[in-house]
Amino acid sequence: MSSRSPESPALAPDTLRARLDRARAAAAAAGTDALLIAPGSDLRYLIGAAGGSFERLTTLVVPAEGTPALVVPKLEAPGYAAVPTDALGVEVVTWVDGEDPYRMVAGRLGKPGRVAVSDGLIALHVLAFRAALGSAEQTLAGPVLRELRMRKDAAEIDALRRAGAAIDRVHARVGEWLRAGRTEAEVGADIADAIVAEGHLHADFVIVGSGPNGASPHHDVSDRVIERGDVVVVDIGGPLPEGYNSDSTRTYAIGEPRDADVARTYAVLERAQRAAVEAVRPGLTAQSIDGVAREIISDAGYGEFFIHRTGHGIGLDVHEEPYIVEGNDLVLEPGMAFSVEPGIYQPGRWGARIEDIVVVTADGVEALNQRPHELVVLDS
Ligand code: ZN
Ligand code: ZN
Ligand code: ZN
Repeated sequence: MSSRSPESPALAPDTLRARLDRARAAAAAAGTDALLIAPGSDLRYLIGAAGGSFERLTTLVVPAEGTPALVVPKLEAPGYAAVPTDALGVEVVTWVDGEDPYRMVAGRLGKPGRVAVSDGLIALHVLAFRAALGSAEQTLAGPVLRELRMRKDAAEIDALRRAGAAIDRVHARVGEWLRAGRTEAEVGADIADAIVAEGHLHADFVIVGSGPNGASPHHDVSDRVIERGDVVVVDIGGPLPEGYNSDSTRTYAIGEPRDADVARTYAVLERAQRAAVEAVRPGLTAQSIDGVAREIISDAGYGEFFIHRTGHGIGLDVHEEPYIVEGNDLVLEPGMAFSVEPGIYQPGRWGARIEDIVVVTADGVEALNQRPHELVVLDS
């Protein structure tokens, strides 16, 4: 793999510098001597470029005290040319094939007691660091960085708002492509084109789950031919050029649903999803929002068919903290953004899901998806 150039390094150096300072402070507060950040969303959050590399080590070294350094293969350094490293106070340290970048990092850190590595740092690098850093304890940087990333600033919320509006425009057009006689894959290809046409960088995922496939929440697309009477789950999203993602699900029907239980079941789902969205406000826990949706679905007798958590955080990653799940006692704060997406899945027959992205505001909630929630009956 080679490095990817930053897709949209539009963030002000002041914003990035403040994030780096907060990351340093968070590392110190966690008793960690340094964060070792791999290419990906964490890197993009901190320096504005996601980078990308595989067997050659690229890492942003963020010591709790001292100068951060971007350690990067010399041949991949041009990919970071747009990063305002001087303004950020980040030293760029290049290495060439034959050198040992792990020792270079170790040399900068002295004798650390504990280093935190990115959740996504590959084992190849984790184990090489273990050897190079001697007795240093390795922990995950995810819990440190999530404290920053899940509290979104106004510009991040605005990007998510625009992503939500873009995916709403795609859902508004699904009736142009979704009809009997076409395969899920054909419909999915048209939707993917529209996701790009409406302003996304690319389509990150396109789920078209028709009939029995709708009962598999993470179904992709298949060559199944859509039939009259099918219920169809359409779950779609992707990143805007600035990196923030959309993710929205609506459920459609091709003419009158063939299964007699669809209307009653769907009404329960709609009520559960609306109640969970309306419950969101600062001071409640993540698990309490899951509980609102789950209780309504369980009380109606469908508990065993709601087989996943109610939602996930969203931002530079489609799935990130905070997770809206039983057992997560995280207290919601303004600026947290996540999905509310209960589903009811009837194995072998049909499934339904309704998904909106919401943001916690100072005194309540803002929904970033505005499409109607009812089952969309397409008359084709
Ligand atoms: Zn999912
Ligand atoms: Zn989704
Ligand atoms: Zn989702």
